[in-house]
Amino acid sequence: MSDPRDVVIPAKSGAAIHVRKGETLRVIDVEGHQVADFVCFGEHDHASFLSAGKTRMNAFKVRISTGDFLFSNRNEVMFTITKDTVGAHDLLFPPCNRWLYENVFDQPGKTGCLEILSGVLARYGIEEGAVPDPFNLFMKTHVEPDNELVIDLPDSGPGDHIELTAAMDCLVAVTACPEEGSQCNGGRSTAIELQMV
Ligand SMILES: [Zn+2]
Repeated sequence: MSDPRDVVIPAKSGAAIHVRKGETLRVIDVEGHQVADFVCFGEHDHASFLSAGKTRMNAFKVRISTGDFLFSNRNEVMFTITKDTVGAHDLLFPPCNRWLYENVFDQPGKTGCLEILSGVLARYGIEEGAVPDPFNLFMKTHVEPDNELVIDLPDSGPGDHIELTAAMDCLVAVTACPEEGSQCNGGRSTAIELQMV
């Protein structure tokens, strides 16, 4: 059975999709102001996976856009950003998760993008501890002069999107982030759409 190629990810959920070398995945913010956590693994070797750290280091930037690359933990190029209608995405934050909601946001029992990602990746044998820090699409963040890390309202409006062209066969997982207590998703979680273009 082949995976569906176009996928609507409802609010507060996620999906996994296979993207072959040379194919381009478009990730669409359907209603606007919605963050989508993006992670990827080598299709044929899950020990290769997205490294937000190496992606930052190799670009010498904390924010990447069209023409920049997503690198693996092994310094392989996994994706090239080939189109970006927004320009503000986050490479600093790990996925939101149960511990964060309970201990930082005072919402005990709420689960986050980490639990969503591990849920959709479980069928591929990828456990929660193996989920890497994501490329947080449409998530806008900045660092204050006193080093405080701030989450801003995303710049993305309805239909804004980013296109990522695969440099290797990849297993990709994407969320529609469930956070609703801050500006992260404009206060309300909404859908994300994936298209192969
Ligand atoms: Zn999240």
